[in-house]
Amino acid sequence: MESTNVHSNGSFKIPNIKFTKLFINGEFVDAVSGNTFETIDPRTGEAITRVAEGDKEDIDLAVKAARDAFDNGEWPRMSGFDRGQIMMKYADLIDENIEELGFLDAIDAGKLFRASKSPDIHLCSHLLRYYAGAADKIHGETLKMSGEFQGYTLREPIGVVGHIIAWNYPSGMFFMKVAPALAAGCTMILKPAEQTPLTALFCAHLAKLAGIPDGVVNVVTGFGPKAGAAISSHMDIDKVSFTGSTEVGRLIMQAAAQSNLKVVSLELGGKSPVIIFDDADVDMAVDLALLGVFHNKGEMCIAGSRVYVQEGIYDKFVQKAAEKAKTWVVGDPIDPLTRQGPQVDKKQFEKILSYIELGKRGGATLLTGGKACGEKGYYIEPTIFTDVTEDMLIVKDEIFGPVMSLMKFKTVEEAIERANSTRYGLAAGIVTNNLNTVNRVSRSIRAGIIWVNCYLVFNPDCPFGGYKMSGFGKDMGMHALEKYLHVKSVVTPIYNSPWL
Ligand code: NAD
Repeated sequence: MESTNVHSNGSFKIPNIKFTKLFINGEFVDAVSGNTFETIDPRTGEAITRVAEGDKEDIDLAVKAARDAFDNGEWPRMSGFDRGQIMMKYADLIDENIEELGFLDAIDAGKLFRASKSPDIHLCSHLLRYYAGAADKIHGETLKMSGEFQGYTLREPIGVVGHIIAWNYPSGMFFMKVAPALAAGCTMILKPAEQTPLTALFCAHLAKLAGIPDGVVNVVTGFGPKAGAAISSHMDIDKVSFTGSTEVGRLIMQAAAQSNLKVVSLELGGKSPVIIFDDADVDMAVDLALLGVFHNKGEMCIAGSRVYVQEGIYDKFVQKAAEKAKTWVVGDPIDPLTRQGPQVDKKQFEKILSYIELGKRGGATLLTGGKACGEKGYYIEPTIFTDVTEDMLIVKDEIFGPVMSLMKFKTVEEAIERANSTRYGLAAGIVTNNLNTVNRVSRSIRAGIIWVNCYLVFNPDCPFGGYKMSGFGKDMGMHALEKYLHVKSVVTPIYNSPWL
């Protein structure tokens, strides 16, 4: 490793990987084809193990199991309270296995072991408990209809759900999808990203231990164009809940439209602005901006990759950002000193480096970073560009890596206009103590979540999801539960009612 802020820790031993097969109808099984694929440790670029490669035939088997569990099984018919009790047990099992889950996320996705053990995996059990508590509070309404009729609404589980997810929060995203769908009484097939299959299989095993009936949660590992496409085009899946890129989100909608018009929700990409006003505490603002784009090695849909700083504090901000970025420790994610692990795989690593080259060649000034580091694996220095203009691709495209574009602005109006000048609308940050500015900017920015004097704050009760080409439909909060429910109206006549 070549710079002083790069740490390595080669001494940690990889535990035995227990689950590598598809999880269908409560059993771990080989793919029908018998095919497998390698999952790679991004710290070294070497294979961790081989995992079953599911395809259309395996998705068909998983859908059959989920359909049977939905049409004839106990899960959708059980009381919400009983479903909630089983989900509570599932949450306890997550907590008991926190170390192993965190470790699998660290070696498969390059995520910080420390972070995985704390916020990421804690979020999983928190999500399960939050939705377990909601499972017996799913109520319809009574309707006082005109004439001699009355009605009521039922809120029924939407049916068999296909979840297709990305690799950057493998365990957290699993439960953002699975927990509300379980509470609603749905049955499901989840396809994790091909880069990170390990935690999803471990979580499938824990679902069985918790007592979730066979067929309710199925996990099929495999590639997007095969196993993923088989989900989005399946005639017997009622809903697809997707997290991934905007490009693939478009394919999912097309496949849904061309098959059975299944309900679609999409959590897609972002290019989020962080706006820092003159009255901000510069040290706090720099810390927040660095965290916003370098946390999780920038592989976050909500990465605050466009940082706008008001002209009065711009020079001071640039100087401090350069100083602090140089102390940001890149290295083995198992090492407790590390703040930034490796990018998830070679493809992502090369894509980020090619954007950095584009920035350099396009005339932006490299303030810090700008190259790969370490002797092996997919490590990239935290990188900040200044002298950036809005027409550069590093400002327009989602890089999904540790690359910040730092820009200067003069007025509130200009900040709002520039913040909104993107096809995305996932998140935004505002740093100021002026309440009027907070109110005006937060209402003017077209994005699904606005963080004021903070960034990356998540909680199960806080709905999360995009505007514009960042998608539609919410994960988390009670809004996510709605995604997995149908509303049915039942109308009956009233005979001899004293009230009309
Ligand atoms: P991706 O779109 O390439 O893959 C996401 C999932 O879709 C994977 O499981 C993949 O196998 C599957 N897939 C790929 N092609 C498919 C197809 N033709 N049909 C069906 N499924 C297919 O995205 P990625 O590279 O894994 O993840 C990065 C992207 O995800 C970024 O754009 C990021 O912003 C986005 N993301 C969004 C959120 C959010 O909540 N908005 C969260 C995390 C990541």
